Amino acid sequence: MSSNSYRNGSSIGRGGGGGAMKLENHSSKYSPSSSSKSKVQPTASSSTSLRRSSTGSSRDDSTVSRRVRVAVRLRPRNAEEMVADADFADCVESQPELKRLKLRKNNWDSDTYEFDEVLTEFASQKRVYEVVAKPVVESVLEGYNGTVMAYGQTGTGKTYTLGRLGEEDAADRGIMLRAMEDILAEVSPENDLVSVSYLQLYMETVQDLLNPTNDSISIVEDPKSGDVSLPGATLVEIRDHKSFKELLQLGEAHRFAANTKLNTESSRSHAILMVHIKRSVKGRNSSLSSENGSMALMGKTLKPPVVRKSKLVIVDLAGSERIDKSGSEGHTLEEAKSINLSLSALGKCINALAENSAHVPVRDSKLTRLLRDSFGGTARTSLVITIGPSPRHRGETSSTIMFGQRAMKVENMVKIKEEFDYKSLSRRLEIQLDKLIAEHERQQKAFQDEIERMALEAQKRISEVELSYADALEKEKLRCQKDYLESVKRLEEQWKEKQEKHGHGKVKLGPSDDGIEQKSNRVPPVLFAPGEVAEIKQKLHNEILLRKAAEAEIDNLKSQLIHWKQTEAARNAELLKVRKMLEDEVCQKAKLEEEIEMLQSQLLQISFEADESRRNLDRGMGGNTPSSMESLMPEVKHQQLRDSGDGEKASVVKLFEQVGLHKILSLLESEDADVRIHAVKVVANLAAEESNQEKIVEAGGLTSLLTLLRSSNDETVHRVAAGAIANLAMNETNQELIMSQGGISLLSLTAAKAQDPQTLRMVAGAIANLCGNDKLQAKLRAEGGVRALLGMVGCRHPDVLAQVARGIANFAKCESRASSQAGTKSGRSVLIEDGALPWIVQNANNEASPIRRHIELALCHLAQHEINAKEMINGGALWELVRISRDCSREDIRALALRILKSSPSFQAELKRLRVDYG
Ligand code: ADP
Ligand code: MG
Repeated sequence: MSSNSYRNGSSIGRGGGGGAMKLENHSSKYSPSSSSKSKVQPTASSSTSLRRSSTGSSRDDSTVSRRVRVAVRLRPRNAEEMVADADFADCVESQPELKRLKLRKNNWDSDTYEFDEVLTEFASQKRVYEVVAKPVVESVLEGYNGTVMAYGQTGTGKTYTLGRLGEEDAADRGIMLRAMEDILAEVSPENDLVSVSYLQLYMETVQDLLNPTNDSISIVEDPKSGDVSLPGATLVEIRDHKSFKELLQLGEAHRFAANTKLNTESSRSHAILMVHIKRSVKGRNSSLSSENGSMALMGKTLKPPVVRKSKLVIVDLAGSERIDKSGSEGHTLEEAKSINLSLSALGKCINALAENSAHVPVRDSKLTRLLRDSFGGTARTSLVITIGPSPRHRGETSSTIMFGQRAMKVENMVKIKEEFDYKSLSRRLEIQLDKLIAEHERQQKAFQDEIERMALEAQKRISEVELSYADALEKEKLRCQKDYLESVKRLEEQWKEKQEKHGHGKVKLGPSDDGIEQKSNRVPPVLFAPGEVAEIKQKLHNEILLRKAAEAEIDNLKSQLIHWKQTEAARNAELLKVRKMLEDEVCQKAKLEEEIEMLQSQLLQISFEADESRRNLDRGMGGNTPSSMESLMPEVKHQQLRDSGDGEKASVVKLFEQVGLHKILSLLESEDADVRIHAVKVVANLAAEESNQEKIVEAGGLTSLLTLLRSSNDETVHRVAAGAIANLAMNETNQELIMSQGGISLLSLTAAKAQDPQTLRMVAGAIANLCGNDKLQAKLRAEGGVRALLGMVGCRHPDVLAQVARGIANFAKCESRASSQAGTKSGRSVLIEDGALPWIVQNANNEASPIRRHIELALCHLAQHEINAKEMINGGALWELVRISRDCSREDIRALALRILKSSPSFQAELKRLRVDYG
């Protein structure tokens, strides 16, 4: 999409969604850009100031100051005017190239008004869209809220400009259709969501044009963010252009029916089209690792997806003539009041915003409540005022023009509508967790089953072996016995045989090849017959053989037994191995549980951050600055107290309790840089709450934070750690602890390295707190604390300067207390010695009130000591004191300055010398 001359040239800052933390201040009052308010007068010479304001200026990287843009559109004469006004000139004359409009007073005199764009009666619908609405539509697609609104007398072309469907001639299509065409061309159907509601506001009642039975829709305001929504309105998802057109037709038909029923015309009601766009931000949506990915990896990539939810509101207002005439046209009181209420409330709000009034009566009507974000809010807003040419309606035309002129002075702070989709992150985390738990359980069960099975099998085998061994032994025994009996029997038979053969008493003596025979040779022959001896020999031999066989069998069985025993030992070893594996598994489980705890702590951190960024969003939108800058912290504490009843917060606190302070503190020393950052953010958030501070310090948190400042090179860590230290430094005991642990030199070093003004702001805030401790004055100066504080004024960021000024005021106050104590002899102020005076004088009248007020106090403290007077006079501080005594908005400071001026002899002498009367 191309830009054109109407679109202003500044680039829109992109929101830094991540990392926003509690201590960051998004208030807008000190913005150096606040001087760029437009001052549009109905004169030709205003063009330069108009150009200047149109550049807008970026305050931080997500908020941009942008004026409401106003175009005027002139309707061509209609048939009736052609006839009725034939003899008269048009009451207006447009000069589109000069962007001016002349409104004729009479034949010789006219007023000239300047607009952002002047659209003549010849301007095409396409050009009107491109000039009025397209830049807004582009912004909405980038994530900003946007409003396009038409204002003007009935019959001047509001509906023609916005709602025309172009059925006969496509070139007549109005802004609503063209805007949706551009939106649908840009969004991705898979990742983005476009939905629409269409409403009518009549007599302070909101009716649903997409569902006419829904005729009393309430407007709901988020008490925290101030965002308005209409939860009762029908919301239709739009996927293509045709369905949108049908929806508009349906809405129009319902509008017609509703107005017929109520006996009214559409010109008395406001029609409001709301287009909601939700887009996921590509490239910043880091997904969780795959299902079987390692937990460590998962921890690292754990970032919630980012979504942008923006809203385009297109408003076709009721005819503006009702404002003046409704009373005179015989309406019932109720109707007249209601018709007027919303439009006149809108006029009042715009007047209040144009004049920068403290009070804007937003709550006076439903219309102004609905358009809260469009005027003076965060939306980019474009207004087209429609007028007719007829001199008969000069009065109406003039009042429409004045409305447009005032609207041009309204400044919005446009802000990207981006948020973490941490609901989806949490959903994904839960699924991941469930999967891990189930997987773990499954594995554990499988291991147990396997062990049981193996133990059973081993037992079975052992008893089998034992059984078979006993069996074999028994068999062998039986066999041996049987063999033995058989051989005895055989021997007996042989013996009998031989006896029969050789006859009784015959003994054969002779050589034999048997050793036993030889032995028996030496035995007296009377005892045994030779046959008998051989038999016995044979028997003995057999017996020996049998014994050997039995022995061999026993050996064999023994070796079998050994083998089975070995097998059993192997089983036992395996059993041991499996047990070890089970132990490892238990260990792994413990680790997983640790990871889960860490994830929970990260989730806790993310929730805190999301809360905080939301709060910052709210704060930025409301534009209200905390009036007290006595410390950085009360604002934060207040927020926390306010949130403590909140259910969501309570669950976060519970989560924190589960994780435990010691664990979080131990994560500060983690090897993993991401974990360190998460941990320090969690600690910082906890430190923001006074009730946690003692616990943190007791658990060694302060020392860990200081160590982190020393060891880390990461600026985010520095910023967050310094913020936490600043919080802890609100308490006297902690202040002494910080000093005794070399805190000043660490903070100075951090300041010297810092790039980000918010880091400096935290460091300056911490030192400023230390400056308020009477006991630490000398040490603070000796260790360079005062010089470090003054060194930071190089960064011109008002938040940093405010903290420096607060530190100086604290220091001067302590000095003043010390020297007013009896018996203390003091020299010139350390602040003057260290060269702070020129900066103090230079900023004494700084436009940012926190800076100014602290410096005014510091000057008064310094001036209370005569010994400082000479330097102060030489340095020009006397004039500032005089100014303070006259102009300071705080009465007590004014009175103090006056008293000092009157009581100091040196100041008196100088004032007298200069002939300034201060007696
Ligand atoms: P409003 O909504 O302000 O009451 P409408 O849009 O209904 O006014 O316009 C009144 C009449 O004027 C309609 O008939 C419309 O077609 C016609 N009209 C309005 N603006 C133009 C224009 N720029 N060119 C031609 N006809 C127009
Ligand atoms: Mg209309």
